[in-house]
Amino acid sequence: MAQEQQPQFDYVVVGSGGGGGPVAANLASAGFKVLLIEAGDEHENLSYQVPAFHGQATEDPEMRWDFFVQHYSAPERNTDGYDSKYVTEKKGVLYPRAGTLGGCTGHHALITLYPHNSDWEEISRIAKTYDPTDESWAPDRMRRIFERIERCGYLGEQGPKDVEARHGFSGWLTTEVLTDLIDPEALLDSPDLQLLQTVIGAVHATIWDVDFNPHDPKSLGRLLDRLESTLERAPNLKQLFKLQPLVDKKAELEAHVKGSLNQFLDPNDYRVTLEHREGVFLIPISVSPDERKRVGTRERIKQVKARFPENLTIWCNSFVTRIVFEGNKAVGVEYVNSQKYYDAAREDRSAPPRNEERKVERVKREVVVAGGSFNTPQLLMLSGIGPKEQVEKYKIKSVIDLPAVGGFLQDRYELGFISEAPKNYTILSDYLFREPKPGEKDAALDQWKATHNGLYATNGAVLCVIRKSSHRADENPDLFIFGLPAAFKGYFPGYADTLEQRRNRFTWAILKGHTRNKGGYVRLKSSDPFERPEINFKYFDEGTDEGGDDLAAMVEGVDFVRRFTSHLGLHALPLVAQKKKHPPDMNDGYQISEWVKQEAWGHHACGTCRIGPKDKPDEAALDADFKVRGAEGLRVVDASVFPSIPGFFIVTPIYMIAEKASESILKDAGWKPRDGGQNGLNLPEIG
Ligand SMILES: Cc1cc2nc3c(=O)[nH]c(=O)nc-3n(C[C@H](O)[C@H](O)[C@H](O)COP(=O)(O)OP(=O)(O)OC[C@H]3O[C@@H](n4cnc5c(N)ncnc54)[C@H](O)[C@@H]3O)c2cc1C
Repeated sequence: MAQEQQPQFDYVVVGSGGGGGPVAANLASAGFKVLLIEAGDEHENLSYQVPAFHGQATEDPEMRWDFFVQHYSAPERNTDGYDSKYVTEKKGVLYPRAGTLGGCTGHHALITLYPHNSDWEEISRIAKTYDPTDESWAPDRMRRIFERIERCGYLGEQGPKDVEARHGFSGWLTTEVLTDLIDPEALLDSPDLQLLQTVIGAVHATIWDVDFNPHDPKSLGRLLDRLESTLERAPNLKQLFKLQPLVDKKAELEAHVKGSLNQFLDPNDYRVTLEHREGVFLIPISVSPDERKRVGTRERIKQVKARFPENLTIWCNSFVTRIVFEGNKAVGVEYVNSQKYYDAAREDRSAPPRNEERKVERVKREVVVAGGSFNTPQLLMLSGIGPKEQVEKYKIKSVIDLPAVGGFLQDRYELGFISEAPKNYTILSDYLFREPKPGEKDAALDQWKATHNGLYATNGAVLCVIRKSSHRADENPDLFIFGLPAAFKGYFPGYADTLEQRRNRFTWAILKGHTRNKGGYVRLKSSDPFERPEINFKYFDEGTDEGGDDLAAMVEGVDFVRRFTSHLGLHALPLVAQKKKHPPDMNDGYQISEWVKQEAWGHHACGTCRIGPKDKPDEAALDADFKVRGAEGLRVVDASVFPSIPGFFIVTPIYMIAEKASESILKDAGWKPRDGGQNGLNLPEIG
């Protein structure tokens, strides 16, 4: 029997990841009593802290939540002969998640990328179906939210705070770029020529492809115009990114590529967003400015806990099994205290016995569910909110029939184009890329500890190319291609140890943004809250992208990488064969598309509790204020809320919707900032 008690908290937030962490922090900062319930604990080690160890963090036994998902329904595609990452005994492909304070921001790759304005325009259109005067989702206003949460480190406190770039300098989300994390002079002192060649080849190929056609005599002029206008627009770029030493060596490098160094740009500059720019970019990551450690929502939560300890209560190792309703009003949560009760946390490890004693924590105002795209729909369905037939199938009493819960599961497609260089990359020699065992030495780790820079201060991604495929839905670029000196073909148990097993591998990861497929689902397998749900992404031809644009765009991405790795004076690099397979013939479009269908993966799952239009009840789980439709006192704030997958990387838009949701919740509570909002709260006046 569950024991009940009088409510002591104004809000209960379930889950401390990208969505839940900032919401709990904001509500507590605003003076409310908040309980943040998190299934994981605060485990922290070098895998958590060191940016370059993010792969190890995903496989850390104390944090990992392993889901095994289906990419397809067809049985012949659910084999390791089809997808080399498929794990037969687990009946799925590994999809890593983190059950820890900070959620997946405790193991993610730290990439902090501003989404596209069309992402906000879509939600803005939906919001107007509820309130035609609602301008709160307008792109310009959403950018102000980003400015509020960011503390941009790479433009420097004294540096040019270009107003048009619209960065933030006083929020909790500290951002840095590679050139600030690695000393360029040190890099040039002992250059890894092979790596430099690979990188410059990509830069060259991008300029060549985007601007320069050797068969068009006017194209050289266009290329020079573009370089000139880039510098005119941002004359400080070289200093901005500390590229001067590289630029000084330009003459030497010109044999490789003419003028390309000036093309390094900041993808989070608002002009890049407004102008839908393509090109070569650096990749901002979220690390602390001083120690260059991981920054995620755990750090934000701890900041607020230290400042307002009486307002924010954090219960780790507490797993919510059900939302408690009176009629259609959420009045609390049922939970258990103990470690590793959820099956995803017990995978392949000895876990303590489950403590099945269920308790109830009642709430004064609202429950905010932020368990992520798999757990949020599971928890709602276990609580009777979701498709009626799904819920009743497992003898759960239906509270609200909400067909969109668990549907519309969407992800980006990603693929690793792995090349093999003739020699090892010297930059990688002797680096472990993991916590050393007793007696082992790692010079890069020593450097990171002593000087807080070097390769371990980065996430390993060298640079990115942003492109528009000819199959994109609108004017936004839809391909994000980033290079890393490692072998990365996606996730499978033990993958982190294989990344750097051989030091002559380079991966171009091709990521397709703005995918059209929304055909996936999350469904209950039983009424047992500890059992993982059924997750099927219904990739490519099994999904809703009937025109095949997602696949065609991916094939274009592969073709682009193939061309610049093999045709630009670089090494003719053989594609490394996937397990049990021959590499596809890269001149055969059909073989490439089959390879993409087999080996693609994703890790930005969203949409399973989406904000949807008022007049389309089957497509809307939430209204534009994050309220669960038909319920009272219940909101969802995490990756599941997006009606369409935003931008290229999802965590920054999640942080932004968490701010947006905080505003909605506080507005409904009639909150007005004390001390003009200066009292530790990073929210503007809400009236
Ligand atoms: C390997 C990997 C790398 C990534 N790298 C990047 C990147 O570089 N950049 C980027 O933009 N995105 C990245 N992402 C994606 C991004 O980190 C996630 O999409 C984002 O953190 C999701 O936020 P969320 O709030 O929806 O869920 P989560 O961050 O997963 O948080 C959910 C939290 O809820 C808790 N929880 C769940 N159910 C319950 C329950 N019943 N009771 C109590 N607690 C519960 C979980 O323990 C977890 O802490 C990456 C993802 C992965 C898997």
